Amino acid sequence: MWKEKVLEYENQIIDDLKGLLSIESVRDDNKASEDYPVGPGPREALNYMYTIAERDGFSTHDVDHIAGRIEAGQGDEVFGILCHVDVVPAGDGWDSDPFDPVVTSDKIVARGTLDDKGPTIAAYYAVKILNEMNVDWKKRIHIIVGTDEESDWLCTERYFKTEEMPTLGIAPDAEFPAIHGEKGISVFHVVQEEQAEDIDEPDYELHAFESGQRYNMVPDDASAKVLVKENMTDVIQNFEQFLVDHNLEGGSTVDSGILELNVKGKAVHGMDPSIGVNAGLYLLHFLSQLKLDKTAANFVKFSEQYLFNSHFGEKMGMKFHTDSMGDVTTNIGVIKYDNQNGGKYGINLRYPEGFEYDKAMNRFDEEVKALGFKLNLGKNQVPHYVDKNDPFVQKLVQAYRNQTGDKTEPYTIGGGTYARNLDKGVAFGAMFEDSEDLMHQKNEYITKKQLLNATSIYLEALYTLCVEG
Ligand SMILES: [Zn+2]
Repeated sequence: MWKEKVLEYENQIIDDLKGLLSIESVRDDNKASEDYPVGPGPREALNYMYTIAERDGFSTHDVDHIAGRIEAGQGDEVFGILCHVDVVPAGDGWDSDPFDPVVTSDKIVARGTLDDKGPTIAAYYAVKILNEMNVDWKKRIHIIVGTDEESDWLCTERYFKTEEMPTLGIAPDAEFPAIHGEKGISVFHVVQEEQAEDIDEPDYELHAFESGQRYNMVPDDASAKVLVKENMTDVIQNFEQFLVDHNLEGGSTVDSGILELNVKGKAVHGMDPSIGVNAGLYLLHFLSQLKLDKTAANFVKFSEQYLFNSHFGEKMGMKFHTDSMGDVTTNIGVIKYDNQNGGKYGINLRYPEGFEYDKAMNRFDEEVKALGFKLNLGKNQVPHYVDKNDPFVQKLVQAYRNQTGDKTEPYTIGGGTYARNLDKGVAFGAMFEDSEDLMHQKNEYITKKQLLNATSIYLEALYTLCVEG
């Protein structure tokens, strides 16, 4: 029945979505001002949502032009639907204009169709259709629209500073059936504080080392500059053998006594470093065979002792696992060393609920002092978790099952979704198991079937949670 209801609105849904997709709502700090906190595009997309909402008889509430909400329903409790209308830049290689949507017999192609304008319109129509059926709402509905999800989440940060936190909510910005847990995500640096004096003249001096640029990626490239005082050919031969032994690509060049070594690895997302190949840690592993100057030797030793071949925090004494959220993971995303300042490791640590983050950091800080290092703690986002047996999650999943027949269980991830902005929220759609995931890629599209099925699922879920319950 919900499917037929949604079909009556098919043309309107597509028209409203096309309008939203036509706005190039990419963050642009060069054009930012008080009126356009993250640039004119995102603000225009936010205004567009207010315009269609007001056309349909809803009231809206703007929060400093960076976020806002569409209001429906009635009751004490607020059910939140957290969406975003900003998009990542189009990038190259599209077959059509990314901001001039192409509608074919079965799909709509444009930047933002999946992330997150399609799901935003689907969720909006679920509310609109129920409202036009004159249902007896038992909860208030806030469709919260952000404009900075793709960058810094300034939108939700500003919004929840002053606005009411929903009792329950969904973020239609990921996948079905539902993501009910997300690991804590933190970044810390291990910084080398002490320069060590060399008593004997070292055979090799590490002048510079560099690997990786992003904490959430496994680095696929590393280079080291080593001053070699003797046995240059032996070192190069050993390095060639090392590459073969470890099944790595790489190479070396020599320039006035300085040997430059390069290793290629395999880049993967930092939430699962065990499936990548960390070029930096492998190159340090090779350097650990050389009799380096003492400061460099300490730096290399640190990697061998705490980081190399340890993706789950085990060497750092941080191994932890829960059945519902899995393992601690540690990605060594950025590694830098120079012979003036010493070195540092930038580490992206992800952890399940129950892991004692502060305690682990304090203990490790104490431990590494002995080697002349200290920890600098960066951003720490705590884990986000809603029990999958909570009736709220169960009702969402039931709506998904009724529409699709698919029995997949809700799951948890190591990444972060927009849902973690809500006290009690889960990511709910709008990607299906068979959807091609072109988020942030060229030729992003949503099928009409996906758009309409998602709308039906949101409709049924809202009905059971906010009209019946
Ligand atoms: Zn998104």
